[in-house]
Amino acid sequence: MKAKKIIIAIDGYSSTGKSSFAKAIARELGYIYVDTGAMYRAVTWYAMQQRLIYTDGTVNSDVLIKQLPLINIDFRFNADKGVSDTYVNGENVEQKIRNIKVSQYVSRISAIPQVREEMVRQQQLMGKNKGLVMDGRDIGTVVFPNAELKLFMTADPKVRAMRRYNELTAKGEKVTPKEIEQNIIQRDYEDSNRITSPLRKADDAIELDNSNMTQEKQMEWFRKLIENDSKIF
Ligand code: C5P
Repeated sequence: MKAKKIIIAIDGYSSTGKSSFAKAIARELGYIYVDTGAMYRAVTWYAMQQRLIYTDGTVNSDVLIKQLPLINIDFRFNADKGVSDTYVNGENVEQKIRNIKVSQYVSRISAIPQVREEMVRQQQLMGKNKGLVMDGRDIGTVVFPNAELKLFMTADPKVRAMRRYNELTAKGEKVTPKEIEQNIIQRDYEDSNRITSPLRKADDAIELDNSNMTQEKQMEWFRKLIENDSKIF
């Protein structure tokens, strides 16, 4: 393990394997891993529960903003799985926030400036002591602009859709590859074009296209990166 603790910010497009990569890095370095997408998904799930998202997709953002202080999101370690689950107000929502309905609405919720402001505030608190790998869309640009290491992940949309499709069908969700691909393209578009903190590569981020890489190959790439760049640690 490296002596100096740093912040590693991982951003990128939907379903590029950010979470799997971030988790593997956290395990390797003995760091905490935070999935910020889960936080926006948790707020979206809460909004759906409270019927603040209408069937035409519009959001009652005034009420949601007022209720933000009532949404308590936390992560609790699940020893069976060896990873953390997401909780909202004490309820384990890990499975529920990954379904396609939440994926369809999350980019609208994450575009609301007050929602972002609150999530960013909580994320910055989590990074106070460093030793953290955080993945999302605005980590290297907004949450931790001074992160010691920033990675930006991309991959071919067809490869990404297939990965997500396999993941969801393995969990028993009924989805089609087309539906998944459309959702990925739509979310990338909405995330990249929103007014507040759009998804973009930070100028000092290192880009990784993992279309043709296994998880093992990505870790090899990462190990070389930190060995060869003495400025990081
Ligand atoms: O990472 P994941 O695909 O689970 O993220 C779900 C959604 O949450 C994204 O499509 C995006 O709208 C939003 N998000 C964000 N900023 C982050 C992380 C996620 O806007 N830092």
